Amino acid sequence: MKFNYLLFILLYILITSNTILSQKLLNGNIWHITDTHFDFSYQPGGDPDDMCRIYKSSHHKGEDHDKDTQSASPVGNYRCDTSYQLLISAFEEMAKIEPNPDFIIWTGDDVPHLDNSELNQSLIIQSIVNMTDLIQYYFPGVRVFPSIGNHDSYPQHQIAVGPNWLLNQVAEIWSPFLSNDSLETVKVGGYYSELFEPGLRIVSLNTVFYYTQNKQCTNQSDPAGQLAWLNETLSMARQNQEKVLVIAHVAPGYCVKYSVFNFHFQFNDIYLETFGNYSDIIIAHIYGHEHTDNYRLYYSQPSSVVIQPEWDEIDQFLAMTKQQMPSGVMFMSPSLTPYMDPYVPALPNNPSLRMFQYNTTSYQLLDYLQFWSNLTDNIMTNQINWMLEYKAKDFYHVEALDPISMYEAYLLIENTEEMLDIYHYYNSVSYPTKGCDEICRKIQLCSMRHPYSKGFEGCLVVL
Ligand SMILES: [Zn+2]
Ligand SMILES: [Zn+2]
Repeated sequence: MKFNYLLFILLYILITSNTILSQKLLNGNIWHITDTHFDFSYQPGGDPDDMCRIYKSSHHKGEDHDKDTQSASPVGNYRCDTSYQLLISAFEEMAKIEPNPDFIIWTGDDVPHLDNSELNQSLIIQSIVNMTDLIQYYFPGVRVFPSIGNHDSYPQHQIAVGPNWLLNQVAEIWSPFLSNDSLETVKVGGYYSELFEPGLRIVSLNTVFYYTQNKQCTNQSDPAGQLAWLNETLSMARQNQEKVLVIAHVAPGYCVKYSVFNFHFQFNDIYLETFGNYSDIIIAHIYGHEHTDNYRLYYSQPSSVVIQPEWDEIDQFLAMTKQQMPSGVMFMSPSLTPYMDPYVPALPNNPSLRMFQYNTTSYQLLDYLQFWSNLTDNIMTNQINWMLEYKAKDFYHVEALDPISMYEAYLLIENTEEMLDIYHYYNSVSYPTKGCDEICRKIQLCSMRHPYSKGFEGCLVVL
């Protein structure tokens, strides 16, 4: 009897531990590091009017109490880039939450927001090297898939077709992470594709070529042949029955935070159309750059309906949207830096970290965990606390992060005022907002639903 009882317990332990093990194996974690913008010149006590760089001597002498309280805290400041203490605390927190992610996506912008007069080629390269070292130090042996950002260049935002000083050195810095074939395409265009394992391909693109602030490629139809290469790569991936995760720094479509289309118009639609025929293999796109938490849907083509001559623009748009279900979804993760550009009427954001979760068999994205730190509180307590802000599955009421589920989440947001308010609040990583009025709501919804230029314009008219 006693023996049977022990056997039963043993069997129970065996079965439950196997279930836990298989669940663990089914779900994988991916850290997304983006827009760290670590400022090596940040000085505690520095002047926020000067990117927290110039030390305020009155801070110690107590000559000007008002100015003292506004001086840069060691934990960070909303008007400045990432301090050393904030940077290290972010990596320590990531390593504490998940020290062994399956891989890391790192979508660039390592360099602080400084004028070109304060930067040079070697400072850019040093920033990229520092971040590479830091990632390798905290996550030894973990695979890393990087993308280049518009601030990872000199002059800022300017990346020309390679080979050139920047792309050659970036290839060298990224060499621990990439194959020799990838390093060759990085030298020419800053893009590559790597197989994470048989069945999952990471396609990393250099979308800084298309960014409106980059003036190096405006007279070209396909800088560095990236789009032709992308088409071939996706076609090959389909033949090999691979799923594809697309990563890059700048996303196409309309950026609500800065009230601009991110890409030159000549590139916006053609870039999106390149993915149109591959919705069966593309899991999602993951971007940074906007320093705001949001997502966008996209479609296989701007319009799949035959336009009738008597239709005006609104009729055309209505016909188009009725027939189209999204074929893809793009997630824009918020930044680590809390920096607010004083010349742009946009809110700052709290520092953020994001971890995606995926199914290790189907490679479908299942969820993400959005972590945040309340910088206002941190400054008061002089210490950095990280918290879970929300889980995508819970907030969006979805079972997974596929395009159709995220389209249903969009409909929920469109039809539930409170959801849009929270979505708007999460945009700035829970930094208090003034709320979202009628115009703001319209722009938010159109940005989420219509990354194509004509679709966005039409949406603003009819929504
Ligand atoms: Zn950035
Ligand atoms: Zn950027």
